[in-house]
Amino acid sequence: MNIKYYDIVIVGAGIVGLSLAASFRNSNLKVALVDKKNILQNKLHNNSDVVALNRASRNVLKNIGVNKDFIESSWSPYSNMFITNQDYTSKINFDTDKILDVSLGYIVNKKELEKELTLVVEKSSNIDIFEKKENKSILNRDKEVWLSFESGEYLVSKLIVGADGGNSWVRGQLKIPTVEQDYDQFALTCDVLVEHSHSNTASQFFLSTGPLALLPKSNPKSYSIVWTLTPELARSYENLSKDKFHKKLLSASNGFVGKILESTNIRIRPLKMICAQQFIKDNAVLVGDAAHVFHPLAGLGVNLGIQDIASLNEVINQCIEKGTEVNDAKHLRHFERWRKSEAIKLISMLRVINDIFKSKNKIVNFFTKTGLCLIDNNSFIKNFFVKKALQVDFKPPKLSKKSE
Ligand SMILES: Cc1cc2nc3c(=O)[nH]c(=O)nc-3n(C[C@H](O)[C@H](O)[C@H](O)COP(=O)(O)OP(=O)(O)OC[C@H]3O[C@@H](n4cnc5c(N)ncnc54)[C@H](O)[C@@H]3O)c2cc1C
Repeated sequence: MNIKYYDIVIVGAGIVGLSLAASFRNSNLKVALVDKKNILQNKLHNNSDVVALNRASRNVLKNIGVNKDFIESSWSPYSNMFITNQDYTSKINFDTDKILDVSLGYIVNKKELEKELTLVVEKSSNIDIFEKKENKSILNRDKEVWLSFESGEYLVSKLIVGADGGNSWVRGQLKIPTVEQDYDQFALTCDVLVEHSHSNTASQFFLSTGPLALLPKSNPKSYSIVWTLTPELARSYENLSKDKFHKKLLSASNGFVGKILESTNIRIRPLKMICAQQFIKDNAVLVGDAAHVFHPLAGLGVNLGIQDIASLNEVINQCIEKGTEVNDAKHLRHFERWRKSEAIKLISMLRVINDIFKSKNKIVNFFTKTGLCLIDNNSFIKNFFVKKALQVDFKPPKLSKKSE
């Protein structure tokens, strides 16, 4: 039999799985990173998909060895955020330049970040990469766990981590039940070139059909769009001529960015909330989308996943300091309580925000309007929201603190 032994096997090499592997780059742990796709080709592929990352994620990525030049030069910072309600009558302007003298967040190309993380992992002699692997099964045996591939190879480890996304195979193998809720909404994403410069401002229009987010890219006249729509509208907008689509977008953004000059890479996908009922089971842990998938309206999925891996790294380091194994049940339970409570708070908060803003109820709309005006005129409340945006977690892990 072809058997290899590891301390930790990570299944899934998206941003979250790669980051977890990178966080162990200077440790004595033997780590395997497995994906069904070709991981090393991350370095070759390019596309224009972006994610909004906050300051806490930036700190973690810096602390786990992502190239500082890449972070300083390729991430587009945004220091202003403009939020408005469905009839455009109330707005909040968060201008962190004025409030805290820091960026609210950064727009980062997903593929470039995966490429940089792959470079960190590839350089680490304690991390082995297993790419293009078809998993067969997971078998728990007391204090170790066996991952088998269709090829007949086995990886045996003390701990297996599922970082394999929303349809997690690891979660399925472990028979971990989920709570799921269809948002009955689709996300339409695309890139646009517009008439007016964005001045590093991210905008969010809370419309009755769902939120429309405009994320400023490095080109001052270019945005990445995440537009939440009813399934019917999303399907019809996807098939509109460019001219008609630009008119819809111009009207939805109330002319805020001026004329829409070009749109590319239009894609639609259904939105669903998925939360695993257990984040740990036997010798296994779930992180990132494998543990929780939620509404993209606040752009926090990767951010929460990065906090998961920073927390898991911290808990595993505690195991090592205390001389216990990395699958010590007490420490893993602590990880689960910590991450589950953060995920549940966020899922509930986003559900309420989504429901409130799309409500057709006049009383709810009146309070939303009043609430937005109140926040816009109160620098203390604004400050609170800005600080929350910089750091998702109520109880942040150590790796998300600023590096030296
Ligand atoms: C429209 C939209 C906009 C978003 N915008 C933002 C944003 O601005 N900011 C933000 O923080 N989040 C955002 N998110 C959320 C974010 O995209 C996800 O939370 C994030 O991609 C999850 O990362 P992950 O590494 O956990 O999973 P994934 O990115 O799904 O990676 C999973 C990896 O596992 C691998 N895999 C899958 N199955 C197997 C298997 N059986 N065996 C081996 N490998 C496997 C896959 O090949 C992949 O490499 C957005 C989401 C949507 C839908």
